[in-house]
Amino acid sequence: MTEIINGKKIANNLKISLKKEVNELRGRKPSLSVILIGDNPASQTYVRIKEKIAKEIGILSKVYVLDKNVSQKEVISLIQSLNKNKKVDGILLQLPISPQIKEEVVLKAIDPKKDVDGLNPLNKGFLFNSENKKNRFVPCTALAILHLIQKFIKIKGKKAVIVGRSNIVGKPTGQLLLENNATVCFCHSYTKNLKKQTLEADILVVALGKPKFIKKDMVKKGAMVIDVGINKLGNKLIGDVDFEKAKEKAGFITPVPGGVGPMTVIMLMKNTLKARKMN
Ligand code: NDP
Repeated sequence: MTEIINGKKIANNLKISLKKEVNELRGRKPSLSVILIGDNPASQTYVRIKEKIAKEIGILSKVYVLDKNVSQKEVISLIQSLNKNKKVDGILLQLPISPQIKEEVVLKAIDPKKDVDGLNPLNKGFLFNSENKKNRFVPCTALAILHLIQKFIKIKGKKAVIVGRSNIVGKPTGQLLLENNATVCFCHSYTKNLKKQTLEADILVVALGKPKFIKKDMVKKGAMVIDVGINKLGNKLIGDVDFEKAKEKAGFITPVPGGVGPMTVIMLMKNTLKARKMN
């Protein structure tokens, strides 16, 4: 029987325990500052969800909405003031940002101890240092994926194939799986014979942003399939995996929506609480 992984339910349970932890904190509540540039509807939705979940857990959140034409200097200046503010624990820059701003430059400006999305170069480096787990921040989607996989199977010795090598999903996920003793293969747009690779995967993580790209015949029987993709088709959200067909072959599979998405938001809250304890 295929297990359909209920990310929403798992996230809800984590939310309850995070709320309890926040309640038991001495002193001020954790606080998260989100910077949203422009009026991208998907980004606006994600930020609204983050605000809602933060509120439910008892984390203070503040959203800074900046005009899409804002200069890089202004964004850096806002980040610097948040870095200095002792009441701010976590800073998140909602991506993507306007083209006049260099992503790597503004991400570098975020204090690594407040970098709850783990995209500052120092945290990216810490990802390669498993001895520093306590003091590093890892991108939330990668943490979400790891949590879901670990909940159901042992990673050690498994072959993991990651389709997509972005800084925010593919690369950090592969690194976490490697750290947990999987044999990891990264696939991307130049990979030859992708199907040959995916068919070897005990763990198949798909993050490329193309609806129903991974077909049933690309999935190894009994594999764990983690679908990270979020593609909007009309009013519907669909993943990068052809879920209805692939679930007949997979051992475990995440749906879209209701799989990785809700877990990513919870991991952001977990990172914010971690930042509060570190600051
Ligand atoms: P990016 O666009 O940054 O990266 C896409 C990756 O897919 C690239 O590495 C690209 O390769 C690879 N790719 C593209 N086409 C192919 C192909 N034909 N075969 C193999 N690889 C290919 O995407 P993100 O990682 O930011 O996001 C991926 C998806 O995940 C999106 O749908 C996004 O909305 C979703 N997402 C979901 C989150 C969640 O919480 N559920 C969080 C973040 C993202 P190359 O590097 O060679 O160009």
